[in-house]
Amino acid sequence: MNPDSRKIRLVLQLRRGGVTDTRVLAAMERVPREIFVPEPFRDRAYDNLALPIGHHQTVSQPIVVAQMTQALEVGARMKVLEIGTGSGYQAAILSKLCRRLYSIERHRPLLVEAEKRFARLKLTNITTRVGDGTLGWPEQAPFERIVVTAAAADVPPVLVGHLTVGGVMVVPVGDDDDQRLVRVLRTEDGAETEDLNPVRFVPLVPGVASD
Ligand code: SAH
Repeated sequence: MNPDSRKIRLVLQLRRGGVTDTRVLAAMERVPREIFVPEPFRDRAYDNLALPIGHHQTVSQPIVVAQMTQALEVGARMKVLEIGTGSGYQAAILSKLCRRLYSIERHRPLLVEAEKRFARLKLTNITTRVGDGTLGWPEQAPFERIVVTAAAADVPPVLVGHLTVGGVMVVPVGDDDDQRLVRVLRTEDGAETEDLNPVRFVPLVPGVASD
């Protein structure tokens, strides 16, 4: 099967999986996932699978990236924060949908590779840094949208504090055996949370990695 038909097959799988937002589907079609996966896995880039990216991390399954992006309801004028750059794939998708995307990663070597990919794809509206995402990015807050791509034990309060009123965060919450995607809406006096589908993410780990 050639890359284009693999891509079409993937988009059909996403639609069947409940992803109906045409802007999200278009972004998934435009971003070449094969650039974000290591060479031995390139021929599987358009399979609906999470794939290893080194440092015991994975690029998320396409359906999960699409569902999270859809749940975020990103607008073209928005400033968005991502915790867990990883391969940079989710960041690349979001960068097509928002004004500026900020992304934090705790493993420097992963971030170096992700930045090369952003440069290669001429994605100029992404700003990254090495750091502990659980502490957020106070210098750049507030954000209209926040996505966390590693599983937190609870909704991180610092990140709720980084949202504008009316802002939305999508975050996987739970332990290894039982995780759910949670959608948080920041209100005037707190936040409302809503459980979405079950998911499986690598854990959100505090601190910056030593590698
Ligand atoms: N969004 C990524 C998914 C990567 S997996 C992609 O599209 O490829 C989750 C990532 O979160 C890993 O790279 C991991 O190193 C990172 N991570 C985990 N805890 C973190 C923290 N506290 N701060 C920043 N990044 C973190």
